[in-house]
Amino acid sequence: MSAQPSPDTLPRIGHFIAGRPYAGSPAGSAPVYDPARGVPSAEVDLASAADVDAAVRAAHAAFPEWSQTPALKRARVMFRLKELIERDMDRLARIIVSEHGKVLSDAKGELQRGLEVVEYACGIPELMKGEYTEQIANGIDAWTMRQALGVCVGITPFNFPAMVPMWMFPMAVACGNTFVLKPSERDPSLGVELAKLLKEAGLPDGVFNVVHGDKTAVDALLDHDLVRAVSFVGSTPIAEYIYARGCAKGKRVQALGGAKNHMIVMPDADLDKTADALMGAGYGAAGERCMAISVAVAVGEATADALVAKLAPRVAALRIGHGLDESIEMGPVVTAVHRDRITGYIDDGVASGAELVVDGRGHRVAGCEQGFFVGGTLFDRVTPAMRIYKEEIFGPVLCVVRVADFTSALALVDAHEFGNGTAIFTRDGQVAREFAHRVQVGMIGINVPIPVPMAFHSFGGWKKSLMGDHHAHGPESVRFYTKQKAITQRWLNHSESTGAEFAMPTH
Ligand code: NAD
Repeated sequence: MSAQPSPDTLPRIGHFIAGRPYAGSPAGSAPVYDPARGVPSAEVDLASAADVDAAVRAAHAAFPEWSQTPALKRARVMFRLKELIERDMDRLARIIVSEHGKVLSDAKGELQRGLEVVEYACGIPELMKGEYTEQIANGIDAWTMRQALGVCVGITPFNFPAMVPMWMFPMAVACGNTFVLKPSERDPSLGVELAKLLKEAGLPDGVFNVVHGDKTAVDALLDHDLVRAVSFVGSTPIAEYIYARGCAKGKRVQALGGAKNHMIVMPDADLDKTADALMGAGYGAAGERCMAISVAVAVGEATADALVAKLAPRVAALRIGHGLDESIEMGPVVTAVHRDRITGYIDDGVASGAELVVDGRGHRVAGCEQGFFVGGTLFDRVTPAMRIYKEEIFGPVLCVVRVADFTSALALVDAHEFGNGTAIFTRDGQVAREFAHRVQVGMIGINVPIPVPMAFHSFGGWKKSLMGDHHAHGPESVRFYTKQKAITQRWLNHSESTGAEFAMPTH
């Protein structure tokens, strides 16, 4: 065992409020790990309720001027932010790797997908346009307009420290709101880096603020009277909590939760291409993606046998190591606690009778012996009663479930409590169409393993994968981050007398 550095000697990651670093009076601090080496790399401040109050008040103070800034000028900040993120892409991606562990190309991919929301936000003058109807009655015109809400909050998970915040704040801020981001305390640096880039892009101080923290900070945000809306992405139990508490406090809340995404593999599927897709969708980012495929539903015994035969050697041969080594395919998982949780699920799968085809427990990487690694793991003959099937593992563990036919496969997907994403691999257009039409899931891939909608569409699951009425980014985000007004106007002709009308107006 190498010695762990003392917290006092580690770099400090602090809050960013009103355009500058903010020391405040933290409720404590927490270590941030380099997951590939298994050692702390920094110490992050955990906000007290007073720190949260300072951030919300800074956002509230910035709101009147920012919300009255013409949409075109708000869009120009987004144009500059886009250029700055492109300029700093490599630097930002390396920070993600150092705190999250994912491979460098994947970190750049997440930045690119976040950047696409910034690009979408550049169109805010068009996106916020209202509707107008002339002459709804004699001499009367009507129109709608969309106005910003006020202080909006984003509470984000560890697995996409750049992309998920960028699902939220570019649209919230472009709509004229001010924002407080509470990033995951496990990889908190990107939030502050984005705040600095927004400042460089010309965003006025206080429009975007970052507080780090845990439940104390989250509760203070949920309870704060000046917060109008909360966007949350994370696990389902916390999403349910955030939704209930935020709504009870009168806030608009969207809370995206966990997932268990199934891929149906039909007997006519191209199995080589299907195996390629499953390798990336099951083991990319060590399975720590809300749209990862964690269940392959093989239709027919022959399909299952052939699929497992193709997957097993590839899973066993996954190149695993430090995310900055460009030859590797899969990095570590985020913390030792999460590694142990995943290996606990593997133990449980074995105990409950699933067939462990490839065992990722105890995986060691030379030069990174203390890193939080789990090897690629493949289970066959998993049944719906098993915990490894029912619960989200969020690691590099793929479960194969065998079913007899398409109807059983569809019923299996629909019976699961999560409904984030799903996919079908087939050559039969009729089956694919029926699947997309009938399945009770929010995002569907047809021969596409990870069907994450682009920035100009909206992202969101069904069932326990999303609480609230609006999905993230795309057109739904404009609706979430604004409220609509309807105006009916008549300019009176003073030479005509209409008299009092007591009936409901109908002309
Ligand atoms: P998490 O729920 O543990 O944490 C998410 C956020 O909630 C963090 O900012 C954390 O500080 C905060 N939090 C944690 N515990 C809290 C508590 N008791 N009270 C108040 N706040 C609390 O999630 P995670 O482990 O960081 O991320 C992984 C989860 O996120 C997975 O379940 C994954 O499926 C989900 N996720 C979902 C989507 C989606 O689009 N549906 C996208 C990404 C991740």
